[in-house]
Amino acid sequence: MTSPVWHPFTQHGLNEPVPLVTHAEGAILHTADGRRVIDAISSWWVTTHGHCHPRIMAAIRDQSERLDQLIFAGWTHEPAETLARELTAIMPPPLTKVFFSDSGSTSVEVALKMALGHFANRGEDRHRIVVMAGSYHGDTIGGMSVGARGVFNKSYAPLLFDVDVIPFPEAGAEQATLDAFEALCARNPAALIVEPLILGAGGMRIYPPQVLRGLREICAAHGVLFIADEVMTGWGRTGTLLACEQAEVVPDLLCLSKGLTGGAIPLAVTLATEEIFDSHRSTDRARMFFHSSSYTANPIACAAAVANLTIWRDEPVRERIAALGKRQTELSASLREKVSNLRQIGTIVAMEFDQPQGSYLSTLGPQLTAFFRERDVLLRPLGNTVYVMPPYCIADDDLTRIYALIGEAAERF
Ligand SMILES: *Cc1c(COP(=O)(O)O)cnc(C)c1O
Repeated sequence: MTSPVWHPFTQHGLNEPVPLVTHAEGAILHTADGRRVIDAISSWWVTTHGHCHPRIMAAIRDQSERLDQLIFAGWTHEPAETLARELTAIMPPPLTKVFFSDSGSTSVEVALKMALGHFANRGEDRHRIVVMAGSYHGDTIGGMSVGARGVFNKSYAPLLFDVDVIPFPEAGAEQATLDAFEALCARNPAALIVEPLILGAGGMRIYPPQVLRGLREICAAHGVLFIADEVMTGWGRTGTLLACEQAEVVPDLLCLSKGLTGGAIPLAVTLATEEIFDSHRSTDRARMFFHSSSYTANPIACAAAVANLTIWRDEPVRERIAALGKRQTELSASLREKVSNLRQIGTIVAMEFDQPQGSYLSTLGPQLTAFFRERDVLLRPLGNTVYVMPPYCIADDDLTRIYALIGEAAERF
């Protein structure tokens, strides 16, 4: 019997097996056919503290017995208020306002709309967006517009808006990126949007903090808003709570999702400065921020996020992240001879198999995915780029198994 489910980023014509997962715990997924699978990519980068963390599950249970959902235009509830208060307390101080949405993509849409609304309300003619080549900011029309163009969005290109692109800061050519941005500032852009320190879906490409710092300084010098899309990098992935910390920069707009609820339930926030909030605040209703989704700040999701913050406060999360990073450095060292461009930032390790310039559609990706799946490890290479991004709680045996298997694959493919 074929399933009526249409899966994302899945070519159903290839008839690849789709494992059925019944339950999960920590870094382990259990399938209906009794397999124990290591989740080496945190279920697409969302699971930080491990699947079904007891505190997050308890928070969801408790909240579900009190308030399930509430209109958020003009009404509020305790989980959202607590979350916003606690978020602004641990995020950079200039980010004083929290706008809720449901996914990383919508947090990006919100940031872009806030940037344009900000200048429109101030009567300034700034509406262009500058992006970094090779970036990924989500799959909605706005997210795709500011992301890399390619096979993923070719069919939709007529719907995408025009942006200005600065080159990825290749090693040794970092200044070219800064110079390109400086030159584009002559066009009075509204905002620059970047993935800080590492382009995720664009191939786990890492660039140095000085470049991020340089970009931020150019923004400040030209009155351009700096949007940090930390949907993937946030919540400790790169070794610090935010990747921006490593460059000592504070954005004007910050997008967070994925690990916001520890990866348990969808929620996103866009944090904004008081200045951006103020440009929308008025007695004139025409200047309000015109954005909402039905489930904005869903109470159950907010309660899960509050529990995530409690875990960050009460458990040794930072130590776990540091230890995981260190252990991965050790385990990946043996791969250096077998793969190219082995690299790491915090808990993320990436490398290329075979041809370094392979495209996303290279057949190696699905072959590798199948190789790992058949051996009970969930890895999902981006083309020929294999990366590991496990939950912070992963057991050492499981981590060792992942790297041993990648070593085996490197010899085979
Ligand atoms: C995953 C991701 C998004 C999109 O988030 P969704 O929740 O999948 O919509 C946006 N930006 C970055 C950097 C991401 O990694």
